Amino acid sequence: MRTDIGVFMDRDGLINVPPPPKDRYILHPDSFELMPGIAEAIRLLNERNIPVAVVTNQKGVAIGKVAESTLHQIHDRMVELLAGENATVQNIQYCPHSEADQCNCRKPLPGMLISAASALNLQTETCWMIGDQPRDLEAGRAVGCHTLLVGSASAPEGLADLHLNRTNQLPEWIKQNFPFQTER
Ligand SMILES: [Mg+2]
Repeated sequence: MRTDIGVFMDRDGLINVPPPPKDRYILHPDSFELMPGIAEAIRLLNERNIPVAVVTNQKGVAIGKVAESTLHQIHDRMVELLAGENATVQNIQYCPHSEADQCNCRKPLPGMLISAASALNLQTETCWMIGDQPRDLEAGRAVGCHTLLVGSASAPEGLADLHLNRTNQLPEWIKQNFPFQTER
């Protein structure tokens, strides 16, 4: 059985500055701006051979606010900005559906985590799910992940194993808590 650690990360509000309320979605690659400390956090995970997967709900696709091709351009921009700070993510999963589609991937359901774990050959029980909303953590809990809430939202008692107030606290937390894994 594999016991390797992996990390699943929400996108909006964790990796990038959340979209303005009037837009609700990141609509253009130029609007994508990294949160403080997140590139360093991902780089530290890279150095430890801990895979990182992005798992993001993007209902804007379902309701016609964001073309799927634009979403790919936005993710290309994310990869480019991270690369500029020597950070890489190993897998990107997005849910383009709305609630009405009754998919199994829209968080709080765990479909994207299951897909990412499969792609990266990870056991979800030894992974962390990091997000800025309770539904991120619910998706993680559903497949046995450890859960970390980052930001000003609050979560129901017991849902978050840990809560950090700001993304720029992530690098120090990673340094103190994550081992260097052997080459996978
Ligand atoms: Mg979020």
